[in-house]
Amino acid sequence: MDDCIFCKIIKGEIPSKKIYEDEDVIAFNDINPEAPIHFLVIPKKHIESVNHIDEESSKVIAHIFNVINKIVRELNIADTGYRIINNCGVDGGQTVNHMHFHVLGGRELKWPPG
Ligand code: AMP
Ligand code: ZN
Repeated sequence: MDDCIFCKIIKGEIPSKKIYEDEDVIAFNDINPEAPIHFLVIPKKHIESVNHIDEESSKVIAHIFNVINKIVRELNIADTGYRIINNCGVDGGQTVNHMHFHVLGGRELKWPPG
């Protein structure tokens, strides 16, 4: 998608602090972190939101969780804990329409969110 900011990050047209990349996904630090550790994991294929997932494309979600599992161990937050968030649509607070999973950690997080 030409006007998608995360597609531009994938293509290297917008800089990012990339922390992981493979054939199907990338992870990079959120530009506006809400916690000491706050990164995003996104599929390289432009999928607008969870609403746009089908049987085939849902496989990337299993892969994203596997990647999160690796990264949190590397960042030493696997044991202290972390939160995975997917915002979907207007009420969910989604501002970038390229499906992404936030991972936050490095401090105790409040629950429930606002
Ligand atoms: P959401 O509100 O769930 O759609 O989350 C979008 C997230 O993308 C926000 O937390 C933003 O801070 C983050 N974001 C927007 N632009 C960039 C960028 N260029 N690099 C890294 N993170 C970004
Ligand atoms: Zn995109």
